[in-house]
Amino acid sequence: MGRSNAGKSSLLNALSNSRKLAQVSSSPGKTRLLNFFDVDAKYRIVDLPGYGFAARSQAERTEWSQMVENFLSVRGNLTGALLIMDIRRDWSLDETHLLEWLQTRDLPLAIALTKSDKLGKNDIQKRKAKLIKDLAIVNYSSAAIFVVSSLNRMGCKDLEDYIFKSWVVLKT
Ligand code: GDP
Repeated sequence: MGRSNAGKSSLLNALSNSRKLAQVSSSPGKTRLLNFFDVDAKYRIVDLPGYGFAARSQAERTEWSQMVENFLSVRGNLTGALLIMDIRRDWSLDETHLLEWLQTRDLPLAIALTKSDKLGKNDIQKRKAKLIKDLAIVNYSSAAIFVVSSLNRMGCKDLEDYIFKSWVVLKT
């Protein structure tokens, strides 16, 4: 899950490069609904519609939260939540609310900080440290954080290994 333009589709494509990713279902105008992908027939990624509440109406905001909260609440086979975030942005109220909500569901959280190729090594470390520090505000210190780039695939293998080992194997 992640804000529109955070790099969700690109990361999905980058992850699918090394694995067989099959779209199980989708919907026209895909951005607003859930998309399901089977990975190597081993686990399933669910792509939630991008959020960006600030630019949207209250009605759309409510619709998004209801759909996502409903999805997250009723799916007993969910093993983890992956929040995708542009490494250059700061957390907004949207992420804060989402994280607070996830926390009440006890869902393991991983965070992929995308577009790291746009920063130099020092800036990557600075941004990562700041985002981790700010994350403490919502008391989600147990999140696994990955710096990734869909462009040069940095961090993608680590992220996928983590998803597989921590969330998929646990469940099987
Ligand atoms: P989504 O709305 O979250 O699905 O975001 P997209 O995957 O469509 O990406 C939004 C924009 O960011 C597109 O122009 C992508 O090419 C660009 N983008 C996404 N990931 C990366 C990345 O890792 N590096 C760079 N340089 N650009 C990226």
